[in-house]
Amino acid sequence: MSFVDTYDVVIIGAGHNGLVCAAYLLKAGYSVALLEKRSIPGGAATTEELMPEAASGFWFNRCAIDHEFIHLGPVVEELELRKYGLEYLFCDPAVFCPHPDGRYFLAHQSLEKTCAEIAQFNQRDADKYREFIDFWQRFTKAIQPVFNAPPQAIFDILGNYDIKSIQNLLSILGGPHKSLDLIRTMLTSPKDLLEEYFDSEFLRAPLARLASEFGAPPSQKTISVGGMMMSMRHEPGMARPRGGTGALVEALVKLVQAKGGVILTDQNVKRILMDGKRAVGVAVEGGKEYRAKLGVISNIDAKRVFLQMMEPGEVAAVDKALGDRLDRRIVNNNETILRIDCALSEAPRFEFHHHRDEYLIGSVLIADSVRQVEIAHQQPAIGNIPDENPSFYAVVPTMRDPSMAPPGQHTLWVEFFAPYQINGAEGTGLAGTGWTDELKNKVADRVMDKLATYAPNVSRSIIARNVESPAELGDRLGAYKGNYYHVDMTLDQMVFFRPLPEIANYTTPVEGLYLTGAGTHPGGAISGMPGRNCARTFLNEHRPLLNRVKELGKSILPKM
Ligand SMILES: Cc1cc2nc3c(=O)[nH]c(=O)nc-3n(C[C@H](O)[C@H](O)[C@H](O)COP(=O)(O)OP(=O)(O)OC[C@H]3O[C@@H](n4cnc5c(N)ncnc54)[C@H](O)[C@@H]3O)c2cc1C
Repeated sequence: MSFVDTYDVVIIGAGHNGLVCAAYLLKAGYSVALLEKRSIPGGAATTEELMPEAASGFWFNRCAIDHEFIHLGPVVEELELRKYGLEYLFCDPAVFCPHPDGRYFLAHQSLEKTCAEIAQFNQRDADKYREFIDFWQRFTKAIQPVFNAPPQAIFDILGNYDIKSIQNLLSILGGPHKSLDLIRTMLTSPKDLLEEYFDSEFLRAPLARLASEFGAPPSQKTISVGGMMMSMRHEPGMARPRGGTGALVEALVKLVQAKGGVILTDQNVKRILMDGKRAVGVAVEGGKEYRAKLGVISNIDAKRVFLQMMEPGEVAAVDKALGDRLDRRIVNNNETILRIDCALSEAPRFEFHHHRDEYLIGSVLIADSVRQVEIAHQQPAIGNIPDENPSFYAVVPTMRDPSMAPPGQHTLWVEFFAPYQINGAEGTGLAGTGWTDELKNKVADRVMDKLATYAPNVSRSIIARNVESPAELGDRLGAYKGNYYHVDMTLDQMVFFRPLPEIANYTTPVEGLYLTGAGTHPGGAISGMPGRNCARTFLNEHRPLLNRVKELGKSILPKM
């Protein structure tokens, strides 16, 4: 083999998890190169001047926008990302959802203020909301230690528990009835749970919409855990980096480069190079090869790594069943996202809901009813576009961070769930998915028309618009079927099942080949946790003793 460059570790993809992983390895003294297929790093966490000609000076988050999960882990503090320019702006209020009957849901970061908003319309629901959020906050704190450790590393998990998280765990588990009730809650659906707690549709619908951010309809059993999506907006809160999500990537890039890491863009990895049963490097499009002395780490999902970057015989040589299990057992439900970005001359005004600019600080949810949210998620799974009465998630990031557009002007970010493969259009359009420019623009028109029913000025304020179809999104991210979480986030594919039990601990049966990224525990979203957990696994394998001593030192020495 003719290797061009040699590093201890080569990482496939420079998404934020790849960068986080690299940062920990570099800090531990390893040499690392990240190979990124796009011309910029960041993956689903970039901020770009998307339309420099039509809308110069307007910066857009091309994918992720609202960050909650990263505040449940230590990545920002441990990597000292503030030193590299990262500044988080918390959003308060965090959510606004107008209801067609003139009522609305406005969630402040303060639970008390939110309950007062709900009480204007329904006192009982306000009281139940406090109970609902309290449960999910205790649940989140109780399982936070699990997020921040490899799922099968029991000592790492236990080491993350402190008195507070144990108290929270006991408060949701204590006693047989509570434990059984918790299991039942986990098995149930967001819809069932919301009906159990609340009477009002103006409250149920946005909570269903947020729960469905896990990527399934609210009626789907086993994803009631989506209740967390609202509770996290109260605590730890929802934030955005000043300058957009890309500012998180920029801080990581600066850190990686400061520690001697190498980030090579326009490097589309095509093959894992094997020496017997060991991964020893990768080859990129054009034939260049990079050698990894200690490990190849993949920031892309396991399916692509094993089924597209390795020969079937190489996979079978380490695990006869793995190829088939990856191909057939991992579920991607065909739901992905159609993205709309607009440069606006003025911010939308929700004039039928006594417009206040603060409505636009957080996420704006267009969710008229649980049924509408149900359709928004059910239809993509069967290949249909739910654009007749669209439900979607919209943000005006410039209301919280005016630096992202010219003075007085705004940007609009819209996420609309849509099928990757359109039913009946197989083999046509981009990548055979059925998506064409004409179709994506027609769908975007319907979404914008719906927004205009609440904020009529939006129609006349568009300076420029960019629409990205699910097929284009999939192509940009390199994600399998455009899956925004790499692998669906249903209970059967979480924790030690993610992506499959035999490869759930970031290691694989191929020696020297590791997995990180959204397709590994604890999953998609901006958290950096898969990157950090994978680095810990790698470090524990390579210098177990040194790491244990360091960990012990940290826990017994007083904090400086
Ligand atoms: C439209 C959208 C909106 C979202 N909104 C939010 C949100 O508001 N909040 C939130 O928390 N999460 C959100 N998410 C999810 C979140 O953005 C992702 O889960 C997260 O960014 C995944 O990070 P990652 O590093 O694991 O993977 P990725 O960001 O997917 O990184 C993988 C990297 O690998 C590169 N790559 C792929 N193939 C190859 C190859 N062959 N060779 C070399 N490089 C390759 C890709 O270009 C990419 O840079 C959103 C996702 C999408 C798509």
